[in-house]
Amino acid sequence: MFPVKAVFLFFTLFFSVIWKSSAPLYVPPAETDPLMLSCQKFEALYQSIGDSTITPDSASAAFKALFLDLRQLTDAFRKDCSEDLAGGYVFPVRGYYPGTSIGGRGKGYRPSGFDFFDSRVRKSHPAHDLFIRDKNNDGIDDVMCEQVDVLAFTGGLVLGIRQDWTSESQWRGGNYVWVYNPCLNALLYYAHNSTVDVRPGQWIRAGDVLGKMGRTGFNAWQPRSTTHLHFMYLKITDEGLPEPYNPLSLLMESKVLDWE
Ligand SMILES: [Zn+2]
Repeated sequence: MFPVKAVFLFFTLFFSVIWKSSAPLYVPPAETDPLMLSCQKFEALYQSIGDSTITPDSASAAFKALFLDLRQLTDAFRKDCSEDLAGGYVFPVRGYYPGTSIGGRGKGYRPSGFDFFDSRVRKSHPAHDLFIRDKNNDGIDDVMCEQVDVLAFTGGLVLGIRQDWTSESQWRGGNYVWVYNPCLNALLYYAHNSTVDVRPGQWIRAGDVLGKMGRTGFNAWQPRSTTHLHFMYLKITDEGLPEPYNPLSLLMESKVLDWE
């Protein structure tokens, strides 16, 4: 009996390994990949800006160098822009319509006074807050009784993420995702997520799941806050600097992906 059992066990293990290896696993780029190095530089710079351990002037110079470099590094990707943008934009909250989800019907967008390089400047809000039905603030959709997917508005390269936020942290964005789209030469920011499912260096398409919506971030986790996704679109200027861009009309015409 023993050899039969052993043979059975061997084949079970063998096929389970084959089965697992055929799943679409994310293979991270090599650490020496120039794009991966750009991601690491971006994450380090963003951390320094948030911690105020870099002066706004130095941060601005470092950002400029990084994004002019990134524009060159992604030159080849711009050849497929018509394909990248052909599918249109996807509303970043699964199962929700722009007309009911966008906070204040778009009036929450306040770009005035925005300074990406100085985290002490806090009056502006060059973003849209996209809300879900969550009366008891538990991060779970009241109707569907499950967490809500954060979807990529457009494709691009995942530049930086955070997924280890705790309530002791002063970070306002909580668990976030930054995506760079070479075709739009734009940075897309998705904040307050519960979990993050993508990794720096990963290329994504519009509609891909970036994570689950949540209430992470210094203000977002407080009881007074209503569960939302903070969505920001920054255009990179020809000089390589970030500039707020209001994506309201693009959001309004974006495609809604239904619950699965
Ligand atoms: Zn916000």
